Order: sequence, then C-alpha cells, then structure tokens
Amino acid sequence: MTAIATTNPATGRVEKTFDAHPPEEVDRRIRRAATAFASYRTTRVAERAAWMNAAADILDGEAERIGALLTTEMGKTLKAAEAEARKCANACRYYAGHAEGFLADRPADAAAVGASGAYVRYQPLGPVLAVMPWNFPLWQVIRFAAPGLMAGNVGLLKHSSNVPQTALFLEELFRRAGFPEGVFQTLLIGSGDVERVLRDPRVRAATLTGSEPAGRSVAAIAGDEIKPTVLELGGSDAFVVMPSADVGAAAEAAATSRCLNNGQSCISAKRFIVDTGVADEFERLFVEAMRARRVGDPMDEATDVGPLATEQGRADVEEFVADAAGKGAAVLCGGERPDGPGWYYPPTVVSGVTPDMRMFHEEVFGPVASLFRVRGVSKAVEVANATGFGLGSNAWTREPDERERFVRELDAGQVFINGMTTSYPELPFGGVKRSGYGRELSEQGMHAFCNVKTVWIA
Ligand code: NDP
Repeated sequence: MTAIATTNPATGRVEKTFDAHPPEEVDRRIRRAATAFASYRTTRVAERAAWMNAAADILDGEAERIGALLTTEMGKTLKAAEAEARKCANACRYYAGHAEGFLADRPADAAAVGASGAYVRYQPLGPVLAVMPWNFPLWQVIRFAAPGLMAGNVGLLKHSSNVPQTALFLEELFRRAGFPEGVFQTLLIGSGDVERVLRDPRVRAATLTGSEPAGRSVAAIAGDEIKPTVLELGGSDAFVVMPSADVGAAAEAAATSRCLNNGQSCISAKRFIVDTGVADEFERLFVEAMRARRVGDPMDEATDVGPLATEQGRADVEEFVADAAGKGAAVLCGGERPDGPGWYYPPTVVSGVTPDMRMFHEEVFGPVASLFRVRGVSKAVEVANATGFGLGSNAWTREPDERERFVRELDAGQVFINGMTTSYPELPFGGVKRSGYGRELSEQGMHAFCNVKTVWIA
C-alpha cells in the first residue's frame, strides 16, 4: 500500500508523513457521517448556500496559501494552483446560487397518468464516498462536494495518498465555512481500505476520479452492493485540425492543452490528428510552442511546466516514449529528462505513432503529444475514435458541415470546436467508453447523487 505522505515533486524530499486512520477511527467517521446526514438533510437549501458561499470566500481569500500547498504536494505551478482554488470558489458559488432551482419539484403531466397531482422530487442519498486523484486535488473534490452537499448529501473523502495535507484542508474548509460537524470528512486510508468503507451499509454511493483499474475495482464492489457510482476515468483526447482552421491558434491551444497541469490532466488533448493540407505548418508551430514552454521550479512565476507528481509517473512517461521511439516513431522535441533533482519531464512531441505502440492506446500522463497525419474528415474521425477512451475531444475547422460531422461522430462525452476542452460548472462533464459513466457538474452532476423520487397523488 502507498504510504500517506507529502513528497515534494520538485525536490523528491518527503516533507510530512501521516499515519492512516485505524479501522476504529474510520468506523467513527462513518458513524458521524450517518448521524450528520439525518439532520443535515433537513436543513434548508438557503442555509446550505450560506455555508457554501462561505467556503467560496475562504478559497478565494486564501488562494495563495492553498495554492502553495497544492504545489508542494503535487508539483503544479503556483499560478495554476491559485487558479484552481479560484475555480473551486466559482463552482461553490454556482451551486449555492442554483441549487434551489435544480432541486425544485418538477411537475409532470398528472392527467396523463390518471392522477390529480404528479411531480418529481430530488432528495439526497446519504453519505457518499469520494475516491479522488491528486492531479487537481481541490477541483476534483469540489466538483463532487459542491453539488453533493448542496443536494443534502454528506461526503467522505478518500484522497490520493500523496496529497494528505490537501485532503485535511478540504475537511477543514467545510468545517470553517460553517457546515455542521460530520457533513464532510476526510478518511486517511490507503486504497486497500476502500472496499470496507464501500461495503458499509451506511455509505450509499460512490464517485471516483482516477485510473481505469481503480474505477473497475470500485465499480465492481459498488455493483456487488447495488450502490450507484459515477466514474470519471482517463482520457486520450483527440485534437483534430482541418485545413480551414486558424492553424496558429490551434497550435498554441494544442501546446497549452497538452502541457496543462504539467501534462497530467484527463482532458488534456493527447493525440493531435492533422489534415495533410496543414500538417507541415501545424507541426512546425506546435513543436515551436512546445519548445517555448518553460520547465522549472513550480513556485516560480515564469514557469509553465513543473515536475510530474510522482517518480513513478515520470518513469511511466519515459517508458511510453522509449517504447514508441524503439518501434520507429520520431521524437520531434523533448524526450530527455533533465539532470538534477525533481521529477521533471520536458514537453515532447512524437510523430509516426502506430497501433503497435503503447502510446497509441494508453493514456500518457505527462506533457507528451502524439502527432498523426490524415486526409479528410472521415479519416480524422476514424483515428480520433480509434481509442478505448471517450472523455473529451477537440476539432478545429471553420466549415459548418465539417463541424456538424465532428459534433455528431466524435465518440466522446464532450466536443469542443475551435477551443480547448475545459470544465465549467454550467456544463455536464464525463465520458463514454472506458472513460467512465455518469456526469459531474451542471444540474446533472447534482442529480447524479439524488433519489429522483416520483410522486403520484390520486
Ligand atoms: P489511481 O487511480 O491509482 O488513484 C486515484 C485514486 O484512487 C486515489 O485516491 C487512489 O488511492 C485510489 N485507488 C487506487 N486504486 C484503487 C483501488 N483498487 N480501489 C480503490 N481506490 C483506489 O491513479 P494514480 O495516481 O496511480 O495514477 C495512475 C494513472 O491513472 C495515471 O498515470 C493516469 O493515467 C490515471 N489518472 C487519471 C486521472 C484522471 O483525472 N482521469 C487522475 C489520476 C490518475 P491511493 O493514492 O491511496 O492509491
């Protein structure tokens, strides 16, 4: 089992270690969650909104301090970490402002069902276990917690073992914001202890963001217990560029997307599929833009790309590149780890990726792009869909007919046209195929952990 510890990715130094909660403590926390739920579910939405807005104020007001914590634990740049805190504040405010409407009874056609009244009511499920990853250690949690808590659920967080201080901060955040005791708690446990929590009858549902194996395990156990789950797993998003596109803008967005969060984002574009008409121009501009990204100390304002979060993560990325290069792919830039401490890896572009290479099928969690040349929309769609994943996708074109084909034919939970895939509280977020199921964010993200209760009155 992974040790629960803060290890600074910029130095490789272990800064703080934590003992896992013993089983009795885990039990005490689940009991507290169940007790809290019994009364919390009866609170008014306006009360919850006041607490959620207070959480937003803390996130905004302390973004700098919180950002430094994130950077120390997982290596994202300080500017990105502060932006993450502010994005979380925005999502808290969004749900505080919209929950009343999202949770309002939905009238149905009573006459059609032979009733005098018929409607749908949204009620909370109870304690929800959130198994979360380190890559956006605040955002991934808030994305569940803001709608979840506003709906009247209570949260139990099992965070990645490498971000324990962020995990503890999140518990403190909701407590300081005024939420009643037990409404949001952190469990300091390893992945091996998740099953016991998930099987506990007091825990009613689970949400997981992370790798496929983790998702498979949690979904299998939850399935056995007949508990609902939302899974947000990996992605290997396609980024298609057609001849009518603004190639310069596309190349810049491509580099930004691939280097986002030091290359460790599920919705980073990872496979760049370019029409032969503009392939030379795109390749030149994209490689230039990737080379221009400054790799270095994540605390430094001038840094674009900090270290990868874990030593293993960098080793995995190196293996992907070595595998592709060994089978004939060309490394156009990057591809060599720098000397010195820290788990740095440079922005890298690999062309000539073929199906016998691991990178063709698997998610590369680091700033490494695969470049493909294709001719025409049909071929672009075919290559884009030739993956087990289906999270986000991007297409760059000014042709309305092409745009419509990408919208219709890209097999993904999201398609962004002439812009970079990102997440907004206002829009549903999630995937198809092996990227998972269910939706977070928007109204749907709130209803995912609601009992959608049908009410029929004679
Ligand atoms: P994991 O999926 O292993 O970790 C995510 C969370 O799941 C952590 O809290 C982890 O706990 C927990 N977990 C892991 N295995 C299990 C299990 N069998 N049962 C229950 N919970 C489990 O991601 P990694 O950090 O190991 O990263 C590996 C790869 O996963 C990355 O290279 C990337 O491809 C993908 N990934 C995708 C993410 C995304 O946003 N889509 C986010 C993170 C990773 P613990 O830390 O204690 O092991």
